[in-house]
Amino acid sequence: MVKTIVNKRHKLLIAVFILVFAAIGFGFLVNTAVLQRKIIHDAEVYSQEDNEHDAIHFEKRMEDKLYFLGEFADIAAKMPEDALTQELLEHKSSIFSLDQIVVLSRTSASIPPSFDDPEMNDWMQRNPQIFQEPTISASQEHGVMFTVPILKDGIPSGQALLGTKEYTSLQCTNQQESEQKDQISLLVDSRGELVFATLGGESMPQKMYNKIQEDLTKHFSQGAQTVLKPLYGKYTVDMLYGKKVVVSVHPLSINGWTQISITPWNINARYEFHLWMYFLLCILFALVSAAMVGYVILQNIRAKKVLNKAAYHDFLTDGMTNKGFQLQARELLDWGGWSSYTMLYFDVCSFEYINETWGFEMGNKCLRHIYDCMNEDLRQGELTARSENDHFFLMIRSNSEREVKERVTALIDKINIFGEAYSESYLFQFSVGAYIVGEVQENVQILQDRARRAAKFHDKNEICTFYDYKIIEKINRENRLNALFEDSLKNHDFQVYLQPKVYLQEKKPCAAEALVRWVHPEEGMIYPSDFIPLFEDNGKICALDLYVFEEVCKLIAQWREENRLFSEISVNVSREHLKNANADFEESYHKIKDKYHIPDGLIQLELTETSLLHAQQLPHVAQVIRDFHEDGFTCALDDFGFGYSSLSMLKDFSIDTIKLDRGFFVNESQKSRIVVENMIRLAHDMDIEIVAEGIEEKEQVELLRKLGCDLIQGYYYSKPLSISDFVAWQNAQLP
Ligand code: C2E
Ligand code: MG
Ligand code: MG
Repeated sequence: MVKTIVNKRHKLLIAVFILVFAAIGFGFLVNTAVLQRKIIHDAEVYSQEDNEHDAIHFEKRMEDKLYFLGEFADIAAKMPEDALTQELLEHKSSIFSLDQIVVLSRTSASIPPSFDDPEMNDWMQRNPQIFQEPTISASQEHGVMFTVPILKDGIPSGQALLGTKEYTSLQCTNQQESEQKDQISLLVDSRGELVFATLGGESMPQKMYNKIQEDLTKHFSQGAQTVLKPLYGKYTVDMLYGKKVVVSVHPLSINGWTQISITPWNINARYEFHLWMYFLLCILFALVSAAMVGYVILQNIRAKKVLNKAAYHDFLTDGMTNKGFQLQARELLDWGGWSSYTMLYFDVCSFEYINETWGFEMGNKCLRHIYDCMNEDLRQGELTARSENDHFFLMIRSNSEREVKERVTALIDKINIFGEAYSESYLFQFSVGAYIVGEVQENVQILQDRARRAAKFHDKNEICTFYDYKIIEKINRENRLNALFEDSLKNHDFQVYLQPKVYLQEKKPCAAEALVRWVHPEEGMIYPSDFIPLFEDNGKICALDLYVFEEVCKLIAQWREENRLFSEISVNVSREHLKNANADFEESYHKIKDKYHIPDGLIQLELTETSLLHAQQLPHVAQVIRDFHEDGFTCALDDFGFGYSSLSMLKDFSIDTIKLDRGFFVNESQKSRIVVENMIRLAHDMDIEIVAEGIEEKEQVELLRKLGCDLIQGYYYSKPLSISDFVAWQNAQLP
């Protein structure tokens, strides 16, 4: 598994999401702040305009009252004196919406006479102009007082009409009740003296009135006009008596009076709740959206993970599949630079023997162990995965052959400590191919193919085989051979050679093994080791096997006609035939045998141990052997003991002959002698014939004869020979 690669796309997505969310959140905050300021500003303007409107109305009403009173004065001047009765005055006052109308007289009694009190007389003495011109004045007792002189023939008659109206009822307010309650309205004369003061539209308590008057006197010490003038038409939010208030000041055209409105500043309180609600709702909305988007992203990530797991997870090793490996390898190569990497391919040698000997469970454990070792060995920016079966890829950050070899040696040593953990001790061997990447390639698969190809040509003396010009040459040769195959088959460039198999115990004409040789007009003699593995890989071996088989049948038919004495001829059958359980390949052998009328018992089919194990389908293979027997073939187990033969195979398959591998007789030891001796005894007990392969020495022949071996095949008697040479060799043996 890769150690550094993280899913960049997901991180980016989350980062973008957080940024967008933060931006929206910030936007909400800024918007709320701006909105708050705007609301406050508008509220202030509204407050100011409202107060201004009140002042204008106040003024207008006073002028109206004065005007109506003037009209009435004109009428009163023309009326006989006794017509100005108290009833008429009351009637008029209610029409003019005045509290009362009084006729004041400088000389005679006022109407109604109740107004003739010393205080009133004193007031008239102090304000003689009321008999000359219209006036508006005010007193705390009567409220606003309107006076209009009664002129007779345009000359002041010494009488005047006085209308009074309570100050508060002249005011008009648009303010809401809650505000009105605390609203202070002051009417100040040009000297700064209070003319009227109301609190919440009612007369102000005397104590408060006095306090305000006191404060105003202090405030207007510089002169009321000087202080007030700059404030005309403006509103100010100020602190007054510890409370925030909006103060608006409006001059009136009457008597140099100024109306001052002081409204408690509760705009914030009124709007703040809603602003905060708005802000909280915005945040809530953003959070819910975030949660929803986050949920969708998470679901997406989860779904992708599940899909990735299915597509990119190797459940056996708990690592990646080859697809996942390729994807991550690409990222790593782009990130770390292609030229700093080497791609390694590991193929476990003879893994089928592990499965066969220890069982699948243990086989899987081995694969996991190998993967774990590789994974633990990874350094920063490196990667490993099992690609399939017992094949692994490892991509390491090194481009030095020496370093790569050291890493591989250490890794294989580590893998082979396995025996310590499990009771079975076993040395794993690997075909290791390495490709030092060098330069950017089109895709990762190219690197894998090159490492895999190098492993195919793995030299057992080296720890790993590097993909280099020698490998390229070999590949080119393989390609050439592949291209030549079809034509060679048609042109009979493949020739059957025969290697004698000599009976040791009985006097019988020798048997032979048919071994193919490719005698190409241009390429010369090509040996099986150069093309059999290649054709096994690409499946061409099946056609070649049938070709060899047919050539052998032709030869037997011919020898039968010539009455030539011979025992059995054996033919190799590749494991590729057995791979496909459904293919009825025995049928092809049967037909060819029939075609040449070959009697039963003259042809032996050689199957290798690996072909039986590779097939991994014991019932299928057992059936194939039974079919061969039915068709009159005998069956041999070739190269027995080459790998990790399981004796159970002898029990599972009814084999006629065992061919002991040449390996038993190379570097012969006491141990291998014992094995061979017991193998011969066991085979005979099971009624199986024994052939010893690769015998080159006389002593070996003598020993094998003593041990009871049935047949010998080896250079001691003869190398594989062309048919004519074989016939000559056979003739030479005749007594
Ligand atoms: P094999 O079937 O085990 O054949 C025996 C091989 O051992 C032959 O190699 C033979 O030349 C060699 N040999 C015999 N005696 C001695 C000896 O005393 N010393 C040494 N050093 N070698 C000895 P050859 O002919 O190169 O064939 C190699 C392998 O190629 C065969 O192994 C067989 O597996 C495969 N092969 C050959 N012909 C065919 C064929 O027609 N079809 C298939 N499927 N495989 C074939
Ligand atoms: Mg053979
Ligand atoms: Mg053999």
